[in-house]
Amino acid sequence: MRMVDLILKKREGGILSAAEIDWMITGFVSGEIPDYQVSALMMAIYFRGMQSEETQNLVRAMIESGDTIDLSEIAGIKVDKHSTGGVGDKTSIVLAPMVAAAGVPIGKLSGRGLGHTGGTLDKLESFAGFKIEMEMTDFIRNVNTIGIAIAGQTANLVPADKKLYALRDVTGTVENVSLIAGSIMSKKLAAGCDAIVLDVKTGSGAFMKTVEDSFELAREMVRIGELMGKKTVAFVTDMDQPLGYAIGNALEIKEAIATLKGEGPEDLHEICLQLGAAMVMLGGKANSIEEARTILEETIRSGAALTKLRELVAAQGGDASMVDDVSKLPGAQYSHELKAKRSGWVASLDSMCVGHASMLLGAGRETKDSIIDLGAGIVLRKKPGDRVEAGDVLAVLYANVEAKFEGAAEELAVGYVIGDVEVAPAPLVLGIVNNG
Ligand code: URA
Repeated sequence: MRMVDLILKKREGGILSAAEIDWMITGFVSGEIPDYQVSALMMAIYFRGMQSEETQNLVRAMIESGDTIDLSEIAGIKVDKHSTGGVGDKTSIVLAPMVAAAGVPIGKLSGRGLGHTGGTLDKLESFAGFKIEMEMTDFIRNVNTIGIAIAGQTANLVPADKKLYALRDVTGTVENVSLIAGSIMSKKLAAGCDAIVLDVKTGSGAFMKTVEDSFELAREMVRIGELMGKKTVAFVTDMDQPLGYAIGNALEIKEAIATLKGEGPEDLHEICLQLGAAMVMLGGKANSIEEARTILEETIRSGAALTKLRELVAAQGGDASMVDDVSKLPGAQYSHELKAKRSGWVASLDSMCVGHASMLLGAGRETKDSIIDLGAGIVLRKKPGDRVEAGDVLAVLYANVEAKFEGAAEELAVGYVIGDVEVAPAPLVLGIVNNG
């Protein structure tokens, strides 16, 4: 086979065979097929798309590029959750302890983040000493003893995605349904869970900007999951505005802790209950969504969910006293208030601008080697639908380098649109996709 023929075939709208996809993935991972040819193919796929069968073959080839994890030693139905990523998305930090407290084993392999803020692992590293690298035997033992473990991938899990995602990230080829579905589902399926709950974000701060594209992605991922024998449910949720009020690693941990105490923002609380209820149902711990919701609400009311977070932090070497005294979490030396220039109602708040501003403050990585400032970030005071008077504080920015405020505040100000009429906040969950 010749890579140029695959590129030409896809460029003209052809369908790649299973053998061609296997050959391309194998050659790319081994380094025999150069980045520039794979980039050209990715761009052809971006414009031409892939048929369901091609996507399926891509997922299979990607899984086969590395190891798969066997979680069969963990008792119970293991339910994993994945979000396609969004600004202020700290749901995993709330959900994992809450669902584990409801009796569903949580063995989660998470990632770090490139972009706005860190990923779940970076956020958890706000707890001093928290170790994200662990042997598989320790990971399984922790899930079997305390019901929860969250770690980075040490195994050689889907190396094809590591290479391909890095390439797509710098060649403008991330936002394609087949490529995103292939990337996410290959990792979820290789990670050994029994069922999957997906949170597909839609809107300005998400990869999928339109509701139609987001539902297409949701349907494609559910189809792949079910074909591979895993019960899969996808929620399409709003990412036109950030989730909750905090953006930035330690700031998000504080908000997650407040939510686990029942004192968090309404949107975060609600989305965690909805995603969590689906996880509890799939995990076989409830017979209806209503029952699952009640169980989860009880984990918050009783303090069981917060206790689970303490156990998780302690089991992975972290300082669990920070759960109860959040002032010990990393902070910022400087703060800066962004004030409203006019009165009115917040008509919209562009997640992209908020994300970019938080990255400029040091909360996210600009390149994969950037060092994250765990204490940096933004706390919003006003969100869409809120009334503001000229001079009101819209948001507080936090940084450890004062010079970072200028560019970040400018970027954040661009994101706030203040209008003359009151707007109703957008619905949080736009729909649920499952196999019936
Ligand atoms: N997240 C992933 O893991 N892969 C993608 O392609 C997009 C989002």
